[in-house]
Amino acid sequence: MDRNNLCIQNDISCDDFQRQVDDVLIRHKSILDIVTKLDEYTSRINRAVVKSVTSCGCIKINATKQDYNKDSLEEIKNNMENHVEGNMCPGCKEILQEEIGAYLFYLAALCNALDINMSDALLKEYSNMKALGIFSLK
Ligand SMILES: [Zn+2]
Repeated sequence: MDRNNLCIQNDISCDDFQRQVDDVLIRHKSILDIVTKLDEYTSRINRAVVKSVTSCGCIKINATKQDYNKDSLEEIKNNMENHVEGNMCPGCKEILQEEIGAYLFYLAALCNALDINMSDALLKEYSNMKALGIFSLK
């Protein structure tokens, strides 16, 4: 296949993605396969992050206790750390993107099996974030 045929527009919609998953999912159509594939790809995402630290070394994780002892949520937010040092190299980033993409595939498959529209879920979460802001406490 021509490389240009593999390119996907950046503005692909959730609905298009969900429909495409429905069109191509054959082997793991059972809800049992779907939920276990979601577990598998959660592990693979975590493994890809860890391998970036322990094998490649492009990022480091330097974790310490988070400091919640501030006067306001805004102050707490501004002082929270993700504990990642450095930047993921292109090779590690590509692997992680593949694992995330596969996870999204099975998330869409789960939505299809249970008649849930991914766009609706995304929009509902987005609306909650917009309404609650930092008070969503996530
Ligand atoms: Zn790397």
